[in-house]
Amino acid sequence: MADGAALPETLCRELRRDLGDDGVLTDPADRAGYETDLLHTRTGRALAIVRPRSTSEVATVVRSCAEAGVAIVPQGGNTGFCQGATPPDDGSAIVLSLERLRAIRAVDLAGSTMVVEAGVSLADARAEAASHGRLLAIHHGGLSSTIGGNVSTNAGGNNVLRYGMARSQILGLEVVLADGQIWNGLGALAKDNAGTDLKQLFIGTEGTLGIVTAATLRLFPAATRSATALIAVSSVPAALALLTRLQAAAGDAITAAELIPRTGLDLHFAHIGRTREPFEAVHPWQVLVELTAASRFFDLDAALEAAVGAALEAGEALDAVQATSEAQRASLWALREGLAVAQVRTPGNLKNDTSVPVASIPRFIERATRAVAGVAPRAVPIPFGHLGDGNIPFNVNPPPGSDGIAFKTHWPELAASIDAVAGALGGSIAAEHGLGRSKVGAAARLKPALDLDLMRRLKRALDPEGRFNPGVMLGPED
Ligand SMILES: Cc1cc2nc3c(=O)[nH]c(=O)nc-3n(C[C@H](O)[C@H](O)[C@H](O)COP(=O)(O)OP(=O)(O)OC[C@H]3O[C@@H](n4cnc5c(N)ncnc54)[C@H](O)[C@@H]3O)c2cc1C
Repeated sequence: MADGAALPETLCRELRRDLGDDGVLTDPADRAGYETDLLHTRTGRALAIVRPRSTSEVATVVRSCAEAGVAIVPQGGNTGFCQGATPPDDGSAIVLSLERLRAIRAVDLAGSTMVVEAGVSLADARAEAASHGRLLAIHHGGLSSTIGGNVSTNAGGNNVLRYGMARSQILGLEVVLADGQIWNGLGALAKDNAGTDLKQLFIGTEGTLGIVTAATLRLFPAATRSATALIAVSSVPAALALLTRLQAAAGDAITAAELIPRTGLDLHFAHIGRTREPFEAVHPWQVLVELTAASRFFDLDAALEAAVGAALEAGEALDAVQATSEAQRASLWALREGLAVAQVRTPGNLKNDTSVPVASIPRFIERATRAVAGVAPRAVPIPFGHLGDGNIPFNVNPPPGSDGIAFKTHWPELAASIDAVAGALGGSIAAEHGLGRSKVGAAARLKPALDLDLMRRLKRALDPEGRFNPGVMLGPED
């Protein structure tokens, strides 16, 4: 770690002149929170934390850094899981925090769109939409993340089955380019085929091609009704059959279909302290299903009841609890959310971010379970998550009662074997969190050479000096 690295004096003077003293933090205590990610998986060393207030100030910073030959790590809420917003160790970069670009620039109810600046938190953007009777469909547990971060990681989360990833919610972007120019692509058009769709270059490319300063987001009518059920099934293929049946009955009203293994419920009960089983019998798998609608004319409860009844009759479902109150709905969701928290609380737990084609989920779970047993026979696989979009993180807990820290020695082999299973089924090692710094090696091993070559060509075209987020996505040599 390069403790001695310092912001070049001329650059420091220029930045303080342009942004004011509180716009440039160099004190180690002020830098600390920006140099380590939220999950404390990595600490880097920033020359300074630079905090512009506007798009034009971002452009000024980019130009000054370009002249001084200093690299820039864009940072939003610092909630990312792949270390993409933490600076490199060698003190060669500043962190450019977007946290002060927090304006909601416009809300257009007729067009159902909203223009927000990059530093607006996901929680605030969703609340703003809700205050107008609209839904911002980007939704996940990282509510302190920013819109800029969600754009740059193409965030997924809870609603992807129905609304798609963040990419589907983005109609336009404003981006500061590596040469300091501001690209105004803040259109609000649902239809625009006039040439290359340039905004796509900056969605999910983790701050390596440009700095997002604002986005036009698509909004939906806010859901006013929901129907929720936890359904026990005997196997993963039965869970998929149930999903197909529900889709036939309720169409796109299905907003969530979350797969929960018995091992996940056990973990939940052990850590969260609640002991009330959802069913009288113990079942190997359950699916948490939620239907939502913005129209009062759609009888969601009846649709859910009919589909679940038919699934029980067909033997696809073994038992079911349908929420009849908001409190019951919340307690069903608490099972799903508590399991994720309990997993994080288990020392030595291995998390990952795999996805496979939906039809391959049963094969993925079966083969990855075998692969894990081959590496660490008593380890506990906890595959759970988004049945409807194929994103089933294949998490693994250490054997019960064992030393969680010692279990970490198995991580590389476990991760590689799970990634290999996903890859063989046409899946991805980075379903929704990106590559950041932590998955650069895995991507280099597993992504097709031509994919990596095209990514490098784009990088060279848009950021020829490699100023933006060096070492992220493609590794330092690129
Ligand atoms: C409890 C919890 C639950 C989560 N659940 C989910 C989930 O279900 N699905 C999901 O997808 N994610 C989830 N996340 C991860 C995280 O919230 C998302 O990846 C989010 O999009 C990151 O946004 P951020 O503002 O924190 O970005 P940061 O972590 O600050 O940055 C992430 C990447 O984007 C770049 N970046 C940030 N802002 C900009 C910008 N304005 N311009 C250019 N580049 C930029 C950074 O350089 C970095 O490479 C969760 C996080 C937490 C803490």
